[in-house]
Amino acid sequence: MSAEEALEYIESHPEGALQSDLWKVLKIDSRKCSRIVAKLLKDNLITREEESVNGIRTYRLHCAEKSRSRRFDSLLALDAFEPCAGCIEECIPEHCAKLSEWIFSIVMGVEGEVAIEKISPLK
Ligand code: SF4
Repeated sequence: MSAEEALEYIESHPEGALQSDLWKVLKIDSRKCSRIVAKLLKDNLITREEESVNGIRTYRLHCAEKSRSRRFDSLLALDAFEPCAGCIEECIPEHCAKLSEWIFSIVMGVEGEVAIEKISPLK
């Protein structure tokens, strides 16, 4: 059992893998599993959050890249980050071109992004 195999197992669970399942599935003891998880955490390949399953404390393990992208998914439209984060402009949302463009790209996807480029006075 290697760290690479553990990482593969964690990657195959987009919702995150429970550490209490990991050592059972991979047929290793929990202490060895803890050492492998510690190494993956140290190498910044995974993140973990405490979770209780049937009253027993364990950890839900996520691949580092996936957990980051999932965290911000609701703020991304295509590759564009939600425009209000960090915005210091005087805010009138009903008249904000950046917000309208972002919402339009959510609703319309790539086609909307192309369409907004054609009609936007800002571009
Ligand atoms: S709606 Fe427009 S002006 Fe208001 S915070 Fe968002 S981006 Fe800035």
